[in-house]
Amino acid sequence: MKTATVACPFCSTLNRVDLTRVADRPKCGQCGRPLLLDRPLAVSDDNFEKVIGDSKVPVLVDFYADWCGPCKIMAPILDEIAQTRQGDLLVLKLDTDRNQRTSQRFGIRGIPTLILFSKGEEVSRQTGAVPKPEIEALLARAR
Ligand SMILES: [Zn+2]
Repeated sequence: MKTATVACPFCSTLNRVDLTRVADRPKCGQCGRPLLLDRPLAVSDDNFEKVIGDSKVPVLVDFYADWCGPCKIMAPILDEIAQTRQGDLLVLKLDTDRNQRTSQRFGIRGIPTLILFSKGEEVSRQTGAVPKPEIEALLARAR
């Protein structure tokens, strides 16, 4: 089954969702608010492994920081990708300042860095702000 585990953007509770039913706007089992799968969802040191490992669809992670100008340029492109591909791709964002354990584990040296995961493994990565076609090319490498 096409499922993924994501953290609720409001209360951080992990929720297992059926991605074939994203059109029904899945809600958090804990707080009842919408899980907002149509935009990049925050991921942290605490839940990174669980979220990446549980996803039955490819996952694109945006390693960013609040002070990073190029990251802000990329944000609307990633919003668009999350919206158009919801159900087929999970788009996540990781604040590298607040989540240094995961950033170090993946050897993030420059931001933004986009890493594509498939079946829990890194498939490809791209560092620096790039136009949408280059992100699409990165996504095409998903298995
Ligand atoms: Zn919630």
